[in-house]
Amino acid sequence: MPERTKVALVGIGKIAVDQHVPAIANSPDWELAATVSRHGSVPGVPAFTDFAAFLAERSDVPVVSLALPPVPRFAYAEAALRAGRHVMLEKPPGATLAEVHELHALAKANGLTLYTTWHSRMAHAVAPARAWLADKAIRRAHITWREDVRKWHPGQDWVFEPGGMGVFDPGINALSILTHILPAPVHLTAATLTFPENRQTPIAAALTFSGNVTADFDWRQTGPQTWDITVETDAGHLALRMGGNVLEIDGQATAGENTIMGEYPALYARMAELVATGQSEVDLAPMTHVADALTLGRRDVTEAFHF
Ligand code: NAP
Repeated sequence: MPERTKVALVGIGKIAVDQHVPAIANSPDWELAATVSRHGSVPGVPAFTDFAAFLAERSDVPVVSLALPPVPRFAYAEAALRAGRHVMLEKPPGATLAEVHELHALAKANGLTLYTTWHSRMAHAVAPARAWLADKAIRRAHITWREDVRKWHPGQDWVFEPGGMGVFDPGINALSILTHILPAPVHLTAATLTFPENRQTPIAAALTFSGNVTADFDWRQTGPQTWDITVETDAGHLALRMGGNVLEIDGQATAGENTIMGEYPALYARMAELVATGQSEVDLAPMTHVADALTLGRRDVTEAFHF
C-alpha cells in the first residue's frame, strides 16, 4: 500500500466526529496525524489546542482540513497557507466571498492546493442527475429543504450569529447541488427571509431565481425531514430526494451510475487527487446565491427561537 499523506483536522466538533474522522480512518490516502481544537480531541491522535503551536511543531504534516464554523475559519486557513500547508475547507468555505477569494490568491501564489468542499455534491444520485440534465431544456425547478435545526445543530448558537448563515447553512447544500446539476447558471431575483425576533440570521427563506427556479428553506421542520429538488424539462421530470441520494425520472426511481463512496470519503479522495496533481478547486457559486439573498432579501420577523 502506498504511504498515506498526513493530515491535521482542526475543530473537533459535530461534523469532525460524525464524518471527517471516520472518512480519514477508512481512507487509503490519509493518516490523521494531529488534531487542533480548544476542547476536542480524537483518541490516539496527537492533540494541539493552539494552531500556531501545531504549525511550528509539525512541519511533517502537509495538509490541514478545517472543520470549524465559517467565521473563525479564515484566520486558520490563512495561517496554514502562509505556513506552506494545503487546505481543505468545510462548507460554506468562509464567512464572506472576499475572504475566500483572498485565500485562493494566496494558495495560487504559494503553489498550494485550496479545496472548497461541497459534501452534498458527492451524494449518490447527484452525478447521474447532472448527466441526465446536461442535454435538456429546463422549464422550472424547485427546491424544498426543510429540516430541524435542533437535531442537526444542537445548541450551536453560532448558526444564529452574524456569519453563521442561519437556514442557509443547510440551504447552501441544496444550492451546491443545484449549481452543479443545472446545465446553465441562474441568478437570484428575489428573496423573503424570516428572522426570529431574538436572532441575527434567518430561520426560513423563500428564494426566486431566473429561469423559473424557486427554493423553500425552513429550519423548523420536526418529524420527517425534506431535502428535495424537482426539475421539469422539455423531456421529462427529474426529482432528487433525500439530499441528493435518490433519483427519480418521471416518477420512477432509477439507480443511475451511483458513486460507491459516501460523501466525506469522496471529498477526501478528491483532496488527495488535487494535492497529487497540484491543483485547487474553488467554486463559490452556492455561496454567491446566499450572499445575493442576504443582499436582496425582504425581512420578515417571527417568534423568538430558543434551543
Ligand atoms: P461545531 O460542532 O459547533 O464546531 C466545530 C468545532 O469548532 C467546535 O467543536 C469547536 O471546537 C471549534 N470552534 C467553534 N467555534 C470556534 C471558534 N470561534 N474558534 C475556534 N474554534 C471554534 O460545528 P459543526 O456542526 O461541526 O460545523 C462545522 C462546520 O461543518 C460548519 O461550517 C458546518 O456548516 C459544517 N457542517 C456541519 C454539519 C452538521 O450536521 N452539523 C454537516 C455538514 C457540514 P473546540 O471548542 O474544541 O475548539
